Amino acid sequence: MPVLCASKCGRNAVLKRPKTGDALCKECFFWAFELEVHSTIINGKLFNKGDVVAIAASGGKDSTVLAQVLKTLNERYDYGLKLVLLSIDEGITGYRDDSLKTVHENKEEYEMPLKILSYEQLYGWSMDKIVAEVGRKNNCTFCGVFRRQALDRGAILLSVNCIATGHNADDIAETVLMNILRGDVARLQRCVNIITVTEGAIPRCKPLKYTYEKEIVMYAYFKKLNYFSTECVYAPNAYRGHARTFLKDLERLKPSSIIDIIHSGETMCIKENVKMPEKGICTKCGFVSSQRICKACMLLEGLNRGLPKLGIGKTSKATKVLVTLPNSKRIDF
Ligand code: SF4
Repeated sequence: MPVLCASKCGRNAVLKRPKTGDALCKECFFWAFELEVHSTIINGKLFNKGDVVAIAASGGKDSTVLAQVLKTLNERYDYGLKLVLLSIDEGITGYRDDSLKTVHENKEEYEMPLKILSYEQLYGWSMDKIVAEVGRKNNCTFCGVFRRQALDRGAILLSVNCIATGHNADDIAETVLMNILRGDVARLQRCVNIITVTEGAIPRCKPLKYTYEKEIVMYAYFKKLNYFSTECVYAPNAYRGHARTFLKDLERLKPSSIIDIIHSGETMCIKENVKMPEKGICTKCGFVSSQRICKACMLLEGLNRGLPKLGIGKTSKATKVLVTLPNSKRIDF
């Protein structure tokens, strides 16, 4: 027997919302999903009228849904934003080359300008080359650090006011768990912020901060969005994988666990006497850094000097190692 949509529109329900358990029809689900993202944007004061916003686009489900929803809300609520797509090509054969095809298709579909920057052009190293040099253990450290800076560089080239990323509620809850397990207080505080504003860098915001991954998949499915779903060929990020499995187990027992963990992260206070990293400017590249040399420059120097493990771990430790190296291997500060 068909179940009626819980919002009393008179249509039959076709899905059960993972977040609320409500049985909804497609149209009411789209409306509820988009309204929640709109509320997140308004309550978090993410944008100002006239802003140019770069959507960090990978071709995956999160950034594709983000592009679709931001376009819809921008028109529906007259945000007055100029939306552009910004993609980073890490140089991963069989993964990023294919997902970038989807980004090109999205560019046409959403009628948004697209800028692609590659690791090869920015750093002289593709991820394929990095993995050949460092192996499959720390590859994601290089990739994550380089991507972060590459997005900043792209955003500067596009003169945007803000970068919107597709981080969803599950990603953030996972990161909260990982930072607790690592005792990384500085990151714990930052990872739940809906906007990260670092002096000298372009702000980043997360419009999907409270959106469950399962609902993103449902939205993309029912909207028939064109996205790329293959996992990266260098994916084994074991630590995050354990946090993800743990979170999925918790979600099965209690769906609100995801939001509960985010709220816990938001309400945690850091004791006044805890020393937090101070932001400065990297003496090599001029980008924001809490060390004299930023992580990206440290990793890059390590690669270029045949010391690929140099930047893995704490940058302050790597700096100490550097002074003991023979002159030919030292980095100029
Ligand atoms: Fe980069 Fe690792 Fe993500 Fe692959 S899984 S795209 S190597 S961070």
